[in-house]
Amino acid sequence: MTPVLQLAKVTRIHGTDETAVTALCDVDLVVHAGELVAVMGPSGSGKSTLLNLAGGLDTPTSGQVLVRGTDLAGLSPKTLARLRRETLGFVFQDLNLIPSLTAAENVALPLELGGTPARKARGRALGALESVGIVDLADRFPENMSGGQQQRAAIARALIGERELILADEPTGALDSQTGDAVLHVLREKCDAGAAGLLVTHEARHAAWADRVVFLRDGVVIDTTGDPATPDSLLCEPSR
Ligand code: ADP
Ligand code: MG
Repeated sequence: MTPVLQLAKVTRIHGTDETAVTALCDVDLVVHAGELVAVMGPSGSGKSTLLNLAGGLDTPTSGQVLVRGTDLAGLSPKTLARLRRETLGFVFQDLNLIPSLTAAENVALPLELGGTPARKARGRALGALESVGIVDLADRFPENMSGGQQQRAAIARALIGERELILADEPTGALDSQTGDAVLHVLREKCDAGAAGLLVTHEARHAAWADRVVFLRDGVVIDTTGDPATPDSLLCEPSR
């Protein structure tokens, strides 16, 4: 079966010459439909770089990022934008709800951009808000919502529609633990329903929801038991 996400020998070097930072080095990763994979590692280990590459928001210096077997590097900007809108769901630490839209409008936006009629999109947005426990805030603007409420709306927006690949970068960062658990529950449900998920988290408690945990250190994948990098990957230590 073709994996939903595959990274093949992906290296990402930010900057050039003396300022070059190897954020990821020779990373191989496969995530299948129905799987939730957690990514853990210290700050600066390349977790966000990995997620941005998986979502086509950044391009590798070398190696390939394949979504459903298609190399993202070969897609036109327009096709890549459609893939992001329809196939991928992003949940970032930085909330980017649109301030001039209500919670329901923010959540409905990806569907409307994809051509779903407004009424139907609103109905589904309300369902998504319900699943994260804030349907009563549907008509509020972001400025009238707490950080945690905004984060829940951002999660509802990321998960609405038929997402095949969900990329979550510390999605529970701004949340109290109860809300964080609720969000993980929704993410787990989406994966059980057939989505592939990649979750960056600091919390072992949240990683426990995942089928597998990938540990990164200095841009290199070390195994799930946290063993030191193999000699092979040490050949490729970051140039910092
Ligand atoms: P994490 O999410 O695990 O904290 P990041 O992927 O954000 O790690 O960063 C990995 C490394 O790459 C860090 O050393 C960081 O400073 C560097 N880095 C990330 N993005 C950029 C960028 N746009 N330009 C230069 N360096 C970057
Ligand atoms: Mg990060």
